[in-house]
Amino acid sequence: MPVPFLDLKLQYQAIKPVVDEALQRVVSAQAFILGPEVEGLEREISAYLGVSHAVGVASGTDALLLPLKALDPRPGDEAIVPAFTFFATAGAVWNAGFRPVFCDVDPDTFNVTLESLEAVWTERTRVVVPVHLFGQMAPMGEILRLARRRGAFVLEDAAQAIGARQKWDVGTEPAPGPSSKGTEEVGKDWVFAGAAGDACAFSFFPTKNLGGFGDGGMVTTFDDSLAEIVRKLRVHGGLQMYHHERVGTNSRLDALQAAVLRAKLPYLEGWAEARRRHAALYDELLAGVEEIRTPKVLDGNYHVYNQYTVRAQRRDELRAYLSQRGIGTGLYYPLGLHLQECFASLGGKKGDLPVTETLTEEVLSLPVFPELTEGQIEEVAEAVREFYRS
Ligand SMILES: *Cc1c(COP(=O)(O)O)cnc(C)c1O
Repeated sequence: MPVPFLDLKLQYQAIKPVVDEALQRVVSAQAFILGPEVEGLEREISAYLGVSHAVGVASGTDALLLPLKALDPRPGDEAIVPAFTFFATAGAVWNAGFRPVFCDVDPDTFNVTLESLEAVWTERTRVVVPVHLFGQMAPMGEILRLARRRGAFVLEDAAQAIGARQKWDVGTEPAPGPSSKGTEEVGKDWVFAGAAGDACAFSFFPTKNLGGFGDGGMVTTFDDSLAEIVRKLRVHGGLQMYHHERVGTNSRLDALQAAVLRAKLPYLEGWAEARRRHAALYDELLAGVEEIRTPKVLDGNYHVYNQYTVRAQRRDELRAYLSQRGIGTGLYYPLGLHLQECFASLGGKKGDLPVTETLTEEVLSLPVFPELTEGQIEEVAEAVREFYRS
């Protein structure tokens, strides 16, 4: 039986009545831009994460761009970004006016580490953008301590990690957004992705764990004045019509997206649990396969598996083999950002970031969406084992 990499139709079928009702609400009201649906989603997300502000914007890319623009970069200001992430992380940094400085990542978690940040830190570093790649949070305690000591702003890229959390470990300070929601694993000393850094970007792209019917994004923060600036930037830089304090842009979250996302939000925790069950089953079934390294989860991390990504020997052959058997896979990411043509002027070259460069040759993402059955996971794992036996 074929196993698709992702099938969003199954999710829609399962919750069709509530989503259709939400869409109809917006269509009947004929109110499509910002308004009560967007405000409702902002309220619900900030309550879920335990943050003080959530601002809906047009995409995850803009959710990175607008807080960066709010920092008013001066020429030469640097922002550290992992080289192993989706392009948008670095694209937003560039478009906001920062110079992207690429760092390497951990070979087991695929995330930035304290050492990888320190290795590229300079006097001009003003921002750090840790990415919670594939749904596991980067080590925020270490990152925040370093950034606070050196006066840098921390923008979390949680595009792939809504619902992920981590044991809070920033000295004796209480977590800024303590939450006792979700599973029993989450107590008061846990912090959600999006509630740890100075600001955070989420994406509601359809393939993310909370996906809309198109593009959408959200900025979260505890900082009142930053939230206010982002609210202005998304509507051309001024809250009073035809009066502009800054040059902003049009980056509004539309009401149809907000309504769909509100309908889906109550299911998010359950979907994450299903992803985690699938991941645990893969871990078990692939444990004996020498040629495969399954993803590592750091102690005190609640991984939400937007992707289940392994490191595989003979990756491209394995991928073709699975494809012939009707099994879909994803390849995130095939080229480090320091080697992208558009960043050639920054002087990155092969050999600079060895872990990233190895990962781009070895990573393979297996199907992990919530609606998969145990039988399908077993079939994928069996096909992987067969490939290495043959
Ligand atoms: C998806 C994604 C983004 C961008 O989100 P869009 O909504 O597609 O603009 C940014 N960073 C990471 C890590 C992502 O996965």
